[in-house]
Amino acid sequence: MSDLIIFDSDYQIARKRMVEELKLAGIIKSKRIEEAMLKVPRDRFVPPHERMYAYEDTPLRVMLDQTISAPHMVAMMCELLDLKPGLKVLEIGTGTGYHAAVCAEAMERKGIVYTIEYFPQLALYAVQNLAMLDLLDVVKVFTGDGSKGLPQYAPYDRILVTAAAQKDIPKPLLEQLSPNYGIMVIPVEISPGIQVLYRVIRKEDTYEKETITYVSFVRLRSD
Ligand code: SAH
Repeated sequence: MSDLIIFDSDYQIARKRMVEELKLAGIIKSKRIEEAMLKVPRDRFVPPHERMYAYEDTPLRVMLDQTISAPHMVAMMCELLDLKPGLKVLEIGTGTGYHAAVCAEAMERKGIVYTIEYFPQLALYAVQNLAMLDLLDVVKVFTGDGSKGLPQYAPYDRILVTAAAQKDIPKPLLEQLSPNYGIMVIPVEISPGIQVLYRVIRKEDTYEKETITYVSFVRLRSD
């Protein structure tokens, strides 16, 4: 059980402690991700009754049975993506908008994050959260089936998928990844109940796939 947190300054302290713990655990490796995680107030992205748990390293339930990923997973995926200013990023599974916000800050708000959410209600929630932090110039939220990608703005330098694809990586996502050293991070349910996180690096028509770790994400839906 956590201590009761009420004031914004308490959240700031809790956030700092969370970042220190993730650094000690070797999950936050770079100054860039450390600073991004320090900047984005996770407490603003969760429902009021979950706020006091915002800096526990655990996923939290938001709405429609969906979750905000655990902070260590957000940090790990961002490190794997090798984010920097000026990139064009596609996120599948906007959820609360938190992960997109961390990506935007990791790029120093220079570049663009397109993010697509299946449920319109969650997309709206994310827009409200991102607006509070003045991030809507950098993060563009769409509603739809992200397993098809977002072809109108492809190719993407980076693709981040925050829901587990079934069996294999959806072909449209591979096609929409930049052939010029594009990086994708995606969880895939390789057999019932077993999910792994892949990092894929594309060089021209060659895709290098690396298995990172076992994970647990909500299912990537498809129409
Ligand atoms: N990145 C989110 C957490 C992701 S939870 C955050 O920072 O809060 C996974 C999200 O993927 C859920 O919101 C779910 O509705 C969404 N999702 C599932 N299938 C999808 C699909 N095919 N297209 C877009 N979003 C999808």
